[in-house]
Amino acid sequence: MSFDVITIYYIFLVLLVFDFLIWVFLEYLNKTRWNDELPVELSEIYDEEKYKKSMSYEREKYVFSKFSNIFSSALIFIFVLFWFFWKIFDYIISFWFWEFFSTLLFFLVLFLAQSFVNLPFSYYYTFVIEQKYWFNKMDKKLFFQDFIKSLILTIIIWWILLSIIILIYFFAWKYFWILAWALMVWFSTFMLMFYSSLIVPIFNKQTPLENWSLREKIEDFAKKVGFRLDNIFVIDWSKRSTKANAYFSGLWPKKRIVLFDTLISDLTDEELVWVLAHEIGHYKKKHTLQMLIFSIIQTGIIFYVLWIVLNYTEFSLALGSNSWSFALWVIAFSIIFSPLSLIFGVLWNIFSRKNEYEADEFAGKNHNLEDLKTSLIKLSKNNLSNLRPHPLYEFFYYSHPTLLKRLDVLDKIKN
Ligand SMILES: [Zn+2]
Repeated sequence: MSFDVITIYYIFLVLLVFDFLIWVFLEYLNKTRWNDELPVELSEIYDEEKYKKSMSYEREKYVFSKFSNIFSSALIFIFVLFWFFWKIFDYIISFWFWEFFSTLLFFLVLFLAQSFVNLPFSYYYTFVIEQKYWFNKMDKKLFFQDFIKSLILTIIIWWILLSIIILIYFFAWKYFWILAWALMVWFSTFMLMFYSSLIVPIFNKQTPLENWSLREKIEDFAKKVGFRLDNIFVIDWSKRSTKANAYFSGLWPKKRIVLFDTLISDLTDEELVWVLAHEIGHYKKKHTLQMLIFSIIQTGIIFYVLWIVLNYTEFSLALGSNSWSFALWVIAFSIIFSPLSLIFGVLWNIFSRKNEYEADEFAGKNHNLEDLKTSLIKLSKNNLSNLRPHPLYEFFYYSHPTLLKRLDVLDKIKN
């Protein structure tokens, strides 16, 4: 089979436009659901004033994402259209001869460029939008500290992984996709286990719940469902934001539930027990393990497709190059992969929403339903969540079911 280079070049451009248009279409649908009057179904959750506030928050976030998305999509389009990816790579390799280092340097340049291009956007989002709605608690020093820290961290981790992948490409081409896959499986399992103990402390402080006064309230419940209390931590989220949340992470001995300190100040102790019950539900139903398996399958498919694509020089040529190169192939691959990643994203969200229902159900069966409902309502309200997304928008982008759906399902649980 052979491909026409010009055709591939146009396919690249079409795919980029397609990707952008899907987003435009879904945003448009979602906008049709905006309403200035308080909708009847939300009258028990929002009052008139709070609802207006949530709508204007929604609008500002929309305008922001419109600008940032148009900007980044246009940038990538122009890069492909005028062969800029190749020109940058060609420039680097012209004075840094060995392809191994040139490739690493190429991706470093792209990553740094992307990070610094995004910086003003995230600065605006934090200090203008989040600030206006009283969500932001960061000062500028913390913002830039975070930026530098995550920049360095990402570069270190990705350089190690990328170096190994490039070496596999050079020296074990026949087994490329299997070996690269194995590496990523090892890496994601390792990260899932040690993320909380290695990465989180770089940004936040986690205190065992034992030091907090609500320990006693939670102890009985944790005992009842067989979850050890020393696996529960409180994170100092309030130094960044007033938004509240909780999550379950890790595998086997490294499992932990992390409660935001903002959550503790927002909810009553009884409601907190519910949040905990929900997170323990994720653990009991083995959701992290399921998600890991899902992402392992996904990574396997990614590397298999990459391996197939890498067999054709034409993909590299379509980006302007006059010979084959690993760096340009990766770029070509990421463009071809975008429709597939949209599908993966949807599957991931369907899976995640199913898990949320299951965790709610576990909590509902083991704890007072009323606390459950009031805490869900409180959290959505405090975070100014959009509770009426368009169903298709929700289908594509929401990792959690909307509040109304969750309340509906809870109503059906009989203790
Ligand atoms: Zn959950």
